[in-house]
Amino acid sequence: MTGQTERLHGERAIRSIVIAGGGTAGWMAAAMLARRLEKQPVQITVIESSTIGTVGVGEATVPGIRDFFRELGVTEREVMAATKGTAKLGIEFVDWKRTGHSFFHPFGLYGMRSRGVAFHHYWQKLRSAGDPVELADYCLATVMAKHNLFMLPTDRPVHDLLFFDWAVHFDAGLFAQFLAARAVAGGVRRVDATITNVRINGETGLVDGVDTACGKAIDGDLFIDCTGFRSLLLGAALGSGYEDWSNLLPCDRAVAIPCERAGPLTPFTRSTAFAQGWQWRIPLQHRVGNGLVYASRHLSDDAAIDTLRSRLEGAPLAEPNLIRFRTGHRRDFWRGNCIGLGLAAGFMEPLESTSITLIQTGIEKLLALFPDRDFDPALASEYNRSTTLEYERIRDFLLLHYWANDRRGEPMWDQCRDTALPEALAHKLRLFRANGSLVRYEWESFHDPSWLSMYAGFDIAARSHDRAADYFSVQDLQSALARMRESIGKAVALAEPHDAFLRTYGVG
Ligand SMILES: Cc1cc2nc3c(=O)[nH]c(=O)nc-3n(C[C@H](O)[C@H](O)[C@H](O)COP(=O)(O)OP(=O)(O)OC[C@H]3O[C@@H](n4cnc5c(N)ncnc54)[C@H](O)[C@@H]3O)c2cc1C
Repeated sequence: MTGQTERLHGERAIRSIVIAGGGTAGWMAAAMLARRLEKQPVQITVIESSTIGTVGVGEATVPGIRDFFRELGVTEREVMAATKGTAKLGIEFVDWKRTGHSFFHPFGLYGMRSRGVAFHHYWQKLRSAGDPVELADYCLATVMAKHNLFMLPTDRPVHDLLFFDWAVHFDAGLFAQFLAARAVAGGVRRVDATITNVRINGETGLVDGVDTACGKAIDGDLFIDCTGFRSLLLGAALGSGYEDWSNLLPCDRAVAIPCERAGPLTPFTRSTAFAQGWQWRIPLQHRVGNGLVYASRHLSDDAAIDTLRSRLEGAPLAEPNLIRFRTGHRRDFWRGNCIGLGLAAGFMEPLESTSITLIQTGIEKLLALFPDRDFDPALASEYNRSTTLEYERIRDFLLLHYWANDRRGEPMWDQCRDTALPEALAHKLRLFRANGSLVRYEWESFHDPSWLSMYAGFDIAARSHDRAADYFSVQDLQSALARMRESIGKAVALAEPHDAFLRTYGVG
């Protein structure tokens, strides 16, 4: 018996879980809990309100989502076929450094290590010697993306040059339906009702149950708040305060309009900066998801809608969906017998597609720390500690995108360059600048290659490289690195145009 199973069988075991909200967060939680608590005497109920609806965005992911699929017992192929999904090799950042400049953040590695020295030191040594080749040219994922190509990574790459990872873009509504069907088939009870009241036990401070507009009262042992920005249980009823990061990240609004696609199906998300924010482009099989993320201090909602409309590549497929948000998170993600997931827990703009991954890791952490009805505060405390770190690490990565800009003369971007950086980020930058050292903190979602892509993309250079890289002469390195580019070229030749890949794969 695993520890989790023992706890479930114990006298004080959780017997009923109520998930409030049926958006991406609610159904991800329901589907995964139903799967992992299969054959346990636990009733899972999802309460969703068809009169309120979901946020209706959230279509780009990071590679970790594929672990979620695997844990759920579904394949990428099944998910992509059900959600009109496409493959994602990374994000193209256009005009972020300055207008006319672009770079790519790939899900893949750069070059090959040698003699224990990371590749970027060798590249840095050549750059210092005047070699013009970009770091991007040593990454298979980036080169494929540049040519609109895709293939599945090999299971056992013979060397680092062949290693890359991938994520998916999907239709959020279809994804929720896909998960709901699995959850319901796995025994989850689905209730369409609007919650009007959250009942808190005066003695214990725990949530006893919720009341709904149709007069139904639903009680439970464990509550998962997935009610979106409303945060009905965790925020409104239990009073978990909000850690507001608006002072660090300037944007507080978004407007989304899907449109018809013009041009080839790209295997990546695009993020294009403009004077008051940035625009996302997420290619799906049947449409393109577009949105502006902007600072309301610098751009009105009407102007944002007009701007987005004027930038659509094809006919709009829906009315504008305007969304206001406050960057930050609930101080306690878990309080008593209630855990917040998704927008109910916090929100950071979708610049690196991190919200769905935070839902996923939230579910994993909850399962790892799964409580019984005594709700030992140590469990909540660990969940809150690790989740706070995870949010802060992502915030810092996003912040770097804004802070490193060179868009001079635009008030929003000028202010961003002056932002005082949190110490953990400032330390990371100091280390890199000193000699190209990379540091990875606990609960950091983005690994070394992601940071390198930002440093190279924004021209943040190290003052020197690892001296161990001097083992090789410039000439030797030039030929070795040319061979690496050749190997990448050969690998790329095996990839297909993205739309052809989707057809061959059987999802398009
Ligand atoms: C502009 C924008 C772009 C985004 N892009 C991305 C992206 O590319 N990648 C990514 O990973 N994430 C992205 N996200 C985040 C992503 O959309 C969310 O993390 C995800 O959709 C989860 O939302 P949710 O389920 O928490 O909330 P919602 O979708 O808002 O669902 C809330 C649910 O709660 C229910 N509910 C609310 N009140 C009540 C009530 N009183 N009674 C009963 N039910 C109720 C609703 O009916 C609904 O079912 C984006 C977010 C925004 C705002």
